[in-house]
Amino acid sequence: MLDLTYEAPKPKVISGAKEDWELVIGLEVHAQVASNAKLFSGASTTFGAEPNSNVAFVDAAMPGMLPVINEYCVAQAVKTGLGLKAGINLRSAFDRKNYFYPDLPQGYQISQLYHPIVGEGEVIVDMGPGIARRVRIERIHIEQDAGKSIHDLDPTMSFVDLNRTGVALMEIVSRPDIRGPEEAAAYVGKLRQIMRYLGTCDGNMQNGNLRADVNVSICRPGDYEKYQATGDFGHLGTRCEIKNMNSMRFIQQAIEYEARRQIAIVEDGGKVVQETRLYDPDKGETRSMRSKEEAHDYRYFPCPDLLPLEIEQAWVDDIAASMPELPDAKKARFVGDYGMTEYDANVLTAEVENAAFFEEVAKGRDGKQAANWVINELFGRLNKEGLTVETTPVSAAQLGGMLDLIAKGDISGKMAKDLFELLWTTEKGGDPAEVAAKHGMKQVTDTGAIEAAVDEVIAANPAQVEKAKANPKLAGWFVGQVLKATGGKANPAAVNELVAKKLGL
Ligand code: ADP
Ligand code: MG
Repeated sequence: MLDLTYEAPKPKVISGAKEDWELVIGLEVHAQVASNAKLFSGASTTFGAEPNSNVAFVDAAMPGMLPVINEYCVAQAVKTGLGLKAGINLRSAFDRKNYFYPDLPQGYQISQLYHPIVGEGEVIVDMGPGIARRVRIERIHIEQDAGKSIHDLDPTMSFVDLNRTGVALMEIVSRPDIRGPEEAAAYVGKLRQIMRYLGTCDGNMQNGNLRADVNVSICRPGDYEKYQATGDFGHLGTRCEIKNMNSMRFIQQAIEYEARRQIAIVEDGGKVVQETRLYDPDKGETRSMRSKEEAHDYRYFPCPDLLPLEIEQAWVDDIAASMPELPDAKKARFVGDYGMTEYDANVLTAEVENAAFFEEVAKGRDGKQAANWVINELFGRLNKEGLTVETTPVSAAQLGGMLDLIAKGDISGKMAKDLFELLWTTEKGGDPAEVAAKHGMKQVTDTGAIEAAVDEVIAANPAQVEKAKANPKLAGWFVGQVLKATGGKANPAAVNELVAKKLGL
């Protein structure tokens, strides 16, 4: 397999009134585990169900109910860990994180503070061809989601929907290795892509299935390198945590705003206070939500209802053996096997379904040409019409058939575009060769026929011939005339060659 090598991007520098500053960012991403049932109950996780219809007794914290771990959710977390090249802890344990909130009937969230199931890993975040940031993963733990309070249905009352209560989340904690707003968004995008390949999280940010707490601090140029060399956080600035971001755009805006806010405070001689903040997208600013809470504020303690979670290496190995090809490997293979650019490989591997579609088209054909058609013609059209490879009117087999007609010289590139249009609209589902024949799309490669057409045009335009002999650039005019005379069916390359020959150029 081809190994793509990368250079690290430069950190984002923001100029303050007095000096330059760099950004340091660490993310805690909450990813909902793709699973039909919740983490500790058999209740359904279906999104958008009637409020409080997906609630088991244990989710509602009825007295005497006991949690029972869902093995599938654990397997999904392990799979995610393996996808991030992380160490898997064969022994992990659950803790209670105590706090009061109306949508948390237990009065605590079951999480893993001291012994997470997944240890250190990494994510390669692509920032353009040949440029990537390696972001270290500190840990992934599994925990329960809370319910939802609804404040906007009634002027005097609030409602509680427990459907989401107890749904399994993976909290993926990064090291503070992200150095700019675009990188933060790209990091979330890469995590999302990997989990969608794995099938462990659907990555739907709108539904809140993927959301991030964004930690931001500023430092002077050179300080981050000191932190990296020593591991001493003292070299970094005080961070603020922006909670619950579920849009890539807002993540970037919030970081940008937060950095400028911190710079203004520090340059003014003040100190950044560590706290939890909220981003207000309407105002484009972050504001204080609460002062930073510490682990001891939550009175964490081992959950007495659950035994430590012990898994076997053989089980982990089975999961490892069932892993699909991941984005980085697929991308490197596309560049190596099909000779396409890294940019094209990025586009084609963004979604696993797109990559599969492309490979069906490219199989046994010219990979570069297939990539061109899939990206420029097909994806371009799909995007414009809000369709996907699942709903495309032109199938991979049809597109492949078209490429075969081009390869055989049966149709020209221009005819192929017309044929594509027909297959997309009035000839849906048709066989490319038959549709081409029906519409008289046949490239004339027979040199005898082309030669006759060339002779005719030359004989009819003696004045033009003289001009072209003096200025060979004018030969193009003859090519155009011949193509017109043959109804666009003559192979342009053959016409070019014959015109040049006959004019003695
Ligand atoms: P807590 O659990 O209190 O939120 P952690 O030490 O687990 O604190 O860190 C949470 C997140 O904050 C991690 O993603 C980490 O990378 C990030 N982080 C830690 N220090 C900084 C810093 N100085 N600037 C930016 N992010 C930071
Ligand atoms: Mg935190």
